[in-house]
Amino acid sequence: MNMIKAIDIHKNFNNLAVLKGISLEINKGEVVAIIGPSGSGKSTFLRCLNRLETIDRGTIQIEGDLLATTGPDGKIHYATEAEARHICRRIGMVFQQFNLFPHLTVLENIIEAPLVVKGVKPDDIVPQAEELLRKVGLAEKRDSYPSRLSGGQKQRVAIARALAMNPDIMLFDEPTSALDPELTGEVLKAMRRLAEEHMTMLVVTHEMAFAREVANRVIFMDNGEIIEQGPPDVFFSSPAHPRTKAFLNRVL
Ligand code: ADP
Ligand code: MG
Repeated sequence: MNMIKAIDIHKNFNNLAVLKGISLEINKGEVVAIIGPSGSGKSTFLRCLNRLETIDRGTIQIEGDLLATTGPDGKIHYATEAEARHICRRIGMVFQQFNLFPHLTVLENIIEAPLVVKGVKPDDIVPQAEELLRKVGLAEKRDSYPSRLSGGQKQRVAIARALAMNPDIMLFDEPTSALDPELTGEVLKAMRRLAEEHMTMLVVTHEMAFAREVANRVIFMDNGEIIEQGPPDVFFSSPAHPRTKAFLNRVL
């Protein structure tokens, strides 16, 4: 069964076609990197997968459960609110901007959603949160407030926070783009570790070395379409499409 199955996703903003028929299947434990120029629809696609955006046409299935699909009448049929919430709870997302709660400590940031959304008891979630903090190398920041953390530390807290919901799938939207170059390594290391534990991951990134070394598959998106995809060694050494070549020449 696919963890994510997207078929022919179309999305317009007013008259602008931003996604022009994106189809993508991701298997359990796969790490897929999406690269492509700014404005090509990468963020919009990720946001459609956990219904932060509606779609205009296509089908989205998460672990076999239908989130949205175009019916025979041409209209989009969405899962009910309760179903969608249930489905999307299995998807963790990490954004470019960390979006931590400023008035909560690191630990409180991590346990907030499990407490509120899942109704987990503090006694159960605190040890798990502490374990996640150890995993991202921030055990000693447990009681700090986000304002006292570096960007790289904030992003690692954001990763731990997403993991605290026990997701089956993690989406990352340029998680290191807002960071000073010397801080990207620690975030990529946490992501690499997650990949080694066989988390299913879809990562929009400008970090070509990360895509090359960690991803099982690299996808090049341009202008609302998937232009080319393949295993990283093939993708980077012999891209087939002129637009992929031009992009790689610019960024490598
Ligand atoms: P990427 O992440 O690849 O840089 P985005 O998905 O953010 O691309 O954006 C794709 C296009 O959609 C851009 O032209 C952007 O301006 C437009 N866009 C994104 N979000 C909105 C929105 N909420 N309303 C209108 N246009 C949007
Ligand atoms: Mg983006």
